[in-house]
Amino acid sequence: MYSNQSFGRCAHEAHKRKGQSNLQIPNHMQEEAKLTTLSPCQDCPAKCCHNLSIWIGAPKTKEQIDDLMWEVRFNTVRIYIRNRRWYLLIDGKCMYLDKNYRCKIYGTHPEKCIRHTPPNCERFGSFWDVMINTPEELEAYLAKRRKKTKAPRSQDSK
Ligand code: SF4
Ligand code: SF4
Repeated sequence: MYSNQSFGRCAHEAHKRKGQSNLQIPNHMQEEAKLTTLSPCQDCPAKCCHNLSIWIGAPKTKEQIDDLMWEVRFNTVRIYIRNRRWYLLIDGKCMYLDKNYRCKIYGTHPEKCIRHTPPNCERFGSFWDVMINTPEELEAYLAKRRKKTKAPRSQDSK
């Protein structure tokens, strides 16, 4: 998807420094990383500076499920699950990202941005275990989860 485009340097100076060290990118990711540059961030369209991710916790009550059902109706909102943690994913981009994918406030950019480094980022592999795009997908996922959690109990009672 990105191979025919020319991207500016990474928004993360900290990532470039990491790129100069012995950053270990798994073999199957190396083509995507295009390690001809100092860092895999360098020709990335700063995917991590797009789409706001908010940790929400797994819904437990009917009210929480109803709220999520309502939220995922918006075409800018999705839900993803990563390492059993639930997140809202809201389309958009950081106001400090310029058109060349550089951070306009580099040097005072948040610690959270500096800590976010490849290959544990949106560019490599699947960043999520489950992606939920619609209320119907959420309902189906919850139904599957309910079935799974009920199964061991019915076996125990035999
Ligand atoms: S998505 Fe990954 S590779 Fe791209 S800029 Fe962010 S940390 Fe670097
Ligand atoms: S402040 Fe914005 S543009 Fe700068 S690194 Fe963080 S998310 Fe990216």
